[in-house]
Amino acid sequence: MATTFPPAPKVGMVSLGCPKALVDSERILTKLRSDGYQMSPDYAGTDVVLVNTCGFLDSAKEESLEAIGEAIAENGRVIVTGCMGNEAELIRARFPSVLAITGAHQYEDVVNAVHEASPPVPNAFVDLVPEGGLKLTPRHYSYLKISEGCNHRCAFCIIPSLRGDLVSRRIDAVLREAEKLVAAGTKELLIISQDTSAYGVDTRHETRNWKGREVRAHMTDMARELGQLRTAEGQTPWVRLHYVYPYPHVDHVIPLMAEGLLTPYLDIPFQHAAPNVLKRMKRPANEAKVLERVKNWRTICPDIAIRSSFVVGFPGETEADFQYLLDWLDEAQLDRVGAFRFEPVEGAAANALPDPVPEEVKEERYQRIMEKTAAISAAKLQAKIGRILPVIVDEVGEPDEDDGSVGATARSQADAPEIDGNVFLRDTSGLQPGDIVYTEIEDADEHDLFGVPVQEYR
Ligand code: SF4
Repeated sequence: MATTFPPAPKVGMVSLGCPKALVDSERILTKLRSDGYQMSPDYAGTDVVLVNTCGFLDSAKEESLEAIGEAIAENGRVIVTGCMGNEAELIRARFPSVLAITGAHQYEDVVNAVHEASPPVPNAFVDLVPEGGLKLTPRHYSYLKISEGCNHRCAFCIIPSLRGDLVSRRIDAVLREAEKLVAAGTKELLIISQDTSAYGVDTRHETRNWKGREVRAHMTDMARELGQLRTAEGQTPWVRLHYVYPYPHVDHVIPLMAEGLLTPYLDIPFQHAAPNVLKRMKRPANEAKVLERVKNWRTICPDIAIRSSFVVGFPGETEADFQYLLDWLDEAQLDRVGAFRFEPVEGAAANALPDPVPEEVKEERYQRIMEKTAAISAAKLQAKIGRILPVIVDEVGEPDEDDGSVGATARSQADAPEIDGNVFLRDTSGLQPGDIVYTEIEDADEHDLFGVPVQEYR
C-alpha cells in the first residue's frame, strides 16, 4: 500500500527589484523547497506569501508597499523580506498584520519566519531540489552573485547603507556554484555584484585551491577559470560580466573575450562622462582615459558589446556638462544604453547638493540622450545585417496557423536577458529554449535583430 503524507505547506513568492534580489529569492526558495515546502504560483490556497522587496528608489519602495498590500488583501498571511525590510516601522505602520519582516540576505531569518508561520511537514520529500537549486530564471541562464555590498559611496546611492561594505564570496565557492549550474543545464552565467571589478578587495584577494591550482578571489582569475567550464555538450557556456567598473585590470579580461572563453560583453555603469558631474557623484574608477581604453578593447576584441547606464539631471549638471556627455557618447559608440532621470532617494547624500535641475530640463535631456543612443544602436545593428552570429534561444513560439512555421525569441552575445535587445528568429523548427545556434541576420531596427538559423553551433 502506498504511504500517504499530509500535504506539504504552500509558499508563494513575489520577487521585486534587481537581479541581486532575484538571486536572494532563488536561495530562499531553494532552502524552503529542501525543507519540504511546495511552491505556489498564486495567492489562493497558499499558506504564506513572501514578498521580497526593493528599497532602492522611492518609486521602488512604493511598488514594494503596493505588493505587500496586494498580498495582504488576497491572502492575509504575509512575510516581508529584502531591502525594504530595513524599514520595518514604516511597513508595520501601514500593514500591522504582516507576520514577520526581515532584511536583505537574512536567509536564515526569513526561512525561520516561514517555519513559524507554517511549520514544515515531517517526512515530506525533502531531497528533491534539482542540482543547481531552484531557479526563477529559465533553466538555461543563471545569475551568479560573487559578493554583497559595496565600498564606494556614490552620492545618489543608498545601497552601502542598506547592504553594507563589500563582502566577497570565496573563489572556490563561486566556481563550485558555477560548475553546478552548468552541470544542471545553464548555458549562460550572468556574474553579478555591486562592483564586480572590486571582487576580493575585502579578502585581499585570498587564494584558494581549485582543481589543483591556486586561484585568487580576483575578477581576472575568476574570469579565466569560468572560461574553462564546458557544458554537457562540450560547449563553452556564455559568461557575462555585469556591474564592472573600468579599473585597469579590466584590460586583462578582454583577451579572454577575443579567445571566445568569455562572452564579449561588458556592463559598465558609467552614469555620466563630464568630469565635474562624476566628481560630484563620487563615482569610482572615474578617469579621463576611459575613451582611449574602450577603443583599445575594440582593437583587441572587435565584437565586444558595451552596455551602460547614465543619469541625466544630476544636481549641478549644466547644459555644457550634458553636451559633454552627448559628445562622449558619439565617440564611445556604446552598444546598449539605459538612461534615467535623476530621482532623489531618501537617505542619499545627493539630496543635499545645491542646484537641482528643473524637472522639465531633466525630461528634455532625457529625450535627447534617448534619441542619441537609439540612433547609435540602430546604426550598429544595421551593420550586423548579413553577418552570421551565435544566438541563444529564450522562447519558442507556436506553429503558424497557415504554414506551420515556428518563430523564436533569442539573444545574441551582445544582449543580456531582460535589459538588452532580442534576435527574433523565423523558421526554427526543432529548436528548444537554451539552444545556441548560428543565425544569419536579415534585418534590424533600433534595438532588435531579425534572422534565420543556418547551422548548429560548434
Ligand atoms: S558603486 Fe556606487 S552606485 Fe554602485 S552600489 Fe556602490 S555606492 Fe551604489
